[in-house]
Parts: sequence; structure tokens; C-alpha cells
Amino acid sequence: MNIRLFKPSLGEEELQAVKEAFERSWVGLGPKVNEFEEEWAKFTESKLAIGVNSATAALHLSLACFNFPEGKKVLVPSLTFSATASAILYNKLIPVFVDSDPITLGLSFDDLERKYDKDCVAVMPVHYAGHPVPMEKLMPWAKAKGLRVIEDCAHTAGGIYKGKMLGTWGDIGCYSFEEKKIITTGDGGMMVTNNPDLFKDVKAMRWVGIDKDNWKTAQEYTAANHDAMHWFYELNVLGYKYNMNDLAASIGLAQFKKLPKFNKRRSDIIRRYLNGIEAIKEIKPLLPFEPENYPYQMFGIRAERRDELIIYLKTKGIATGCHYTPLSIQPLFMPYGQNCPYIEMEANKLITLPLHADLTNEEVDYIIETIVNKPF
Ligand SMILES: *Cc1c(COP(=O)(O)O)cnc(C)c1O
Repeated sequence: MNIRLFKPSLGEEELQAVKEAFERSWVGLGPKVNEFEEEWAKFTESKLAIGVNSATAALHLSLACFNFPEGKKVLVPSLTFSATASAILYNKLIPVFVDSDPITLGLSFDDLERKYDKDCVAVMPVHYAGHPVPMEKLMPWAKAKGLRVIEDCAHTAGGIYKGKMLGTWGDIGCYSFEEKKIITTGDGGMMVTNNPDLFKDVKAMRWVGIDKDNWKTAQEYTAANHDAMHWFYELNVLGYKYNMNDLAASIGLAQFKKLPKFNKRRSDIIRRYLNGIEAIKEIKPLLPFEPENYPYQMFGIRAERRDELIIYLKTKGIATGCHYTPLSIQPLFMPYGQNCPYIEMEANKLITLPLHADLTNEEVDYIIETIVNKPF
């Protein structure tokens, strides 16, 4: 047995989509990016979606949309991937780390209240593992405090919470199509909003400052439809090279078609895990998973003898992970951190177990059995 922790599920459909991009000989920013953006906007019921080359880029640009004055503060969970908080530093803002809710491991509302002060301008909830942050509670609180809300949806794709897609509760939602995520484009991301004014500069910011679609220029480049100024563009904003490209978007469109199937399979696997580990008293699920209600990118457990269990599982060919070392104790973020006592301790118990759409029932049963039979 050699079971991977995460694995993209790629097949003939994605290969065919890439082949078609080769045949069109257009692999940069082009019509497929546009198509994927339109599909994603429709799917999430957002007014506008913009494709970028990672969720990290999406998070960076999302904060940039608001032009917050340098040195203002942004509330962010300590238990998240580096990118959520790095985006704050990219924008010359200050991260304020928030402890985890002991049950869900999402943002702790008590700590959010404690950490808030008048210099805070935004909050970045992370739907950790795919489990929703109680947005019906967060949004009115944020509104009352005048905070902007950017949802990090890297662990979800299609999760609907109280009738509303995760990523559309806040001002902006950021999704990841990195290879370990629910669907992948190799690397990629998408940002969505229902307030298109917010994104007025985003198209330029994601493509070196130019907001003209040069693939459209190329398509219309004929004598009959000539534009004497087709070469003209203006630079009004500082742009980055953050665009999604047509190769990635082609893969993404093929993956998007499989999303319902992927999410169903992920839910089935989680149900199987939950049944299997129920009887092991010293092991608890990471959080109160609701596989019938939400798609999850990660499954995990909390175990007292975490390190021993990880090493033991490794000897049995089972890959595991720890998501995450809290950012508030990472050297980079230490000047802003060491202030989330619950998760800084609790994180020592977290183990992420294999979860991906191609994981078989036999593999899941083997993982459960191996944990049940641990020699300690
Ligand atoms: C993966 C991840 C990101 C970054 O996604 P990329 O597309 O790799 O940049 C951001 N936030 C969280 C919570 C993630 O898991």
C-alpha cells in the first residue's frame, strides 16, 4: 500500500481539453479563461468572476481592491495556510491573528471580539477543511464594525451554507485550483464578487496593468474590422503577472464538469471514515463534519499521541499531514502573533488523513483498520 494524502483526479477529458488548446495554438490569457470565469460566476451566483494563477494572487488582489491605508489591521485566523496572511503583508497591512473555535477550528467569535480594534479594516474568514464559518453571524458583526470581508474558499468549491454559496457572503470570495484542492488547473484561482465596482481595476491588476483583452484584438484583427489604434493601451494601475491562462482554464472547465461527482465521492469517503473511527475512543474527528451538507477538501482527526501515530501510519504506507502549524507561531509572523493559545496547543493533535476523489473504499477501510490496530 502506498496511499497519497491528496491527489488530483485527471483523465482523458482534461487531456482532450489541453489538446484542443494546442490545436487552437492559444495557451495564454484567452477565450477559455473568459469561458471559465463565466461558468464560475454562474455557478457561484456571483455577478463577476476573475481567473488568476493562484488563490494567493486572488487574496493579494482582493485586499488591494480596497486601497486600505498602509499599516491598518486585518483579522485572520491563525489556523490557515500562509497565503491568507501573506496577502496582508503584500498590501503593507498588519495581520491580527484570531484563535480557533474549539469545535469547528474556524474563527473564534470570542477572540474576534477581543482582537478587534479601531485600526481593523477587514476580516478574512477561512472555511477550514470546507466547513463553513457561521457567516450569518460574522456578516452583521463585520458590517457594524465597518469591516470588509474576504472569504478564503480554498478548501471549498460549491459549498452552500444557509442557501448561499460560500464565497458570496462577503465582499469577495477567493477559490484555489492548486493541485491538492477539490478541482485543479495545476495552479489557478478565481475571485468572485457581487459588487463589480470593487473589481474595476482587477482585470488590469492581474495582467501587468493592461485591461484590454488582447485575445479579442487578435480575433478581430482583419482589414474589414480594422481598428487603427489596436496597439493602444494605457497603464493606469500597477499590475502583476497573475492571470490565469487558456491551458489552465481548459483543464479547469473539464474539471468543473466533474465537480458534483468529486464532491459526492468526497462526502462518501468522509462518511466511511466517520463510521470507521467512531469506536476508537482516543481519536476524534477534526471537526463536526457534515458530509451530507458540505463538500470538504480535507479530512482529519485529533489524536493525543499524534507524532507516534503519524510515524506508524507512514510505516504502513499511509501519507498524512498537519494542517496547519498555526501562523501565529511561525517565525515570519511571530512579531504579530503568539497570541492564539488554544490553537497553538491544539494544533499538536491534528492529523490530516488521505482524501481525494480517486481514493477507493478498500483504501479507506485499510486506513481505518490500520488506525484501529495501532500498537499503542
Ligand atoms: C491552498 C490554499 C491557499 C492558496 O492557494 P494557491 O492557489 O495555492 O495559491 C490559500 N488559502 C488556503 C486556506 C489554502 O489551503
